[in-house]
Amino acid sequence: MNKHLSTNSPRTFDRLNHVHGQTNLRGHQDNGPTAMVINGRGVRFVTDEGQSIIDGFSGLGCVSLGYHNDRLAEAAMRQMQELPFAPTFYGRSHPKVAELAHTLTSKAAVPFEKAMFQCSGSEANDTMIKFIWARNIARGQPQRRRMISRWRGYYGNTVAAVALSGQPHMHANFGLPMDDFLKLSTPNYYLNAADGESEEEFSERMATEFENAVLDAGPDTIAAFFAEPMQSGGGAIRPPQGYWDAMQAVIRKYDIHFHVDETVTGFGRTGHYWGAQAFDLMPDSTTCAKALTAAFFPMSAVMFRQDLYDDLMKNSDAAGVLGHGFTYAGHPVGAAVALEALSIYDDIDLVGHVQRVSKPFLAGCEALLDHPLVGDVRGIGLFCGIQIVQDKARRALWDPKLKVGTMVQDRAHARGLYLRSIPPDRISFMPPLIISQDEISEATAILKAALDDVWEEVK
Ligand code: PLP
Repeated sequence: MNKHLSTNSPRTFDRLNHVHGQTNLRGHQDNGPTAMVINGRGVRFVTDEGQSIIDGFSGLGCVSLGYHNDRLAEAAMRQMQELPFAPTFYGRSHPKVAELAHTLTSKAAVPFEKAMFQCSGSEANDTMIKFIWARNIARGQPQRRRMISRWRGYYGNTVAAVALSGQPHMHANFGLPMDDFLKLSTPNYYLNAADGESEEEFSERMATEFENAVLDAGPDTIAAFFAEPMQSGGGAIRPPQGYWDAMQAVIRKYDIHFHVDETVTGFGRTGHYWGAQAFDLMPDSTTCAKALTAAFFPMSAVMFRQDLYDDLMKNSDAAGVLGHGFTYAGHPVGAAVALEALSIYDDIDLVGHVQRVSKPFLAGCEALLDHPLVGDVRGIGLFCGIQIVQDKARRALWDPKLKVGTMVQDRAHARGLYLRSIPPDRISFMPPLIISQDEISEATAILKAALDDVWEEVK
């Protein structure tokens, strides 16, 4: 038995008393946590076994500034001492949330006047779904309820956000998804393109599928199209050439509300402040979370235009209030930390840094294409997907039972790099945005060595 399980250690408590999400429950009950993280510094975290690991997954795509930051810690401490809580219900406010709403909207990719806060990406997406439905009711179009998203998209775990998500393992045992949530194909060119089909042809095919789905459902029943600029939980899938132009043509043609989920792509991940800027998107509303506070505090936001607020006002005129909100929305400590994070991003020119280091990062990843296990490498900024395959010529995947992607993930972890393998065997590599060039070289060398380890086992 693992020595950490035999005593009254945190590992034992965790195994016996703590229920984990997105985790194999039996494996956890039998073996305890896969890692017990004790502390961190820069881009590395340290486990209870004394291993120092480069975080190539930024926690969950959130620790933009790594694992320590005195300015953020001091901002949180100051705010906790001054005003640890204040509600934002009933029109009550506090200076930090007011300043954050102003600062965040002024940084938006397109002109947004309004921001509302929640604690997670899921809550933000649920908020937006409700607001879009509320607007359609206010406009006398209550039949406009259908939400379109894509397979492999990830929008969270609350009931509506998970219905939007295109992750079958998050639906099957919960009797989900609900009606009114339609799914399109994931724009994974490498795996889903026909032989000889160009990226542009594939993109046109995706847009035709979108248009047909709108026509089949009836354009006047469609409420919105939700999308991540680049799918993250789906496995770091950078859309192919022409994809967003073709999809946005359909959005414009049928006047569909376009909600862009920047939970992962916001605040520099793509080498642009927003993913919308990286891919020339024109959102009608946006979710942001994760790097909003550099993950030092749970906080998210939705941003949108005055015209949506005007419709919500009609709804609140009728009901007396906007019947929506969370206790911890606009939490003073979260708002103080977010303001400090946004100011740090500007002070250190984080976007400029990502642009500079993304060149060696992407070059290091692309060099892995020479490896017999790697069929596809596609990325932007510090966000890259690496497809593990059995046969490059045929773009053939390994039998999922062999869990070859997980083997790469585990060998990399043993060698000091944390990454995630996302089905089907796609390695998602997205280190903290402050990573240095030397750390990138170290991380890509570890990944190459992990691929070699696995190749020795499976070839
Ligand atoms: N949207 C996207 C694009 C995400 O990647 C995630 C989580 O990873 C979410 C929403 C849900 O965010 P949360 O886990 O904070 O609810």
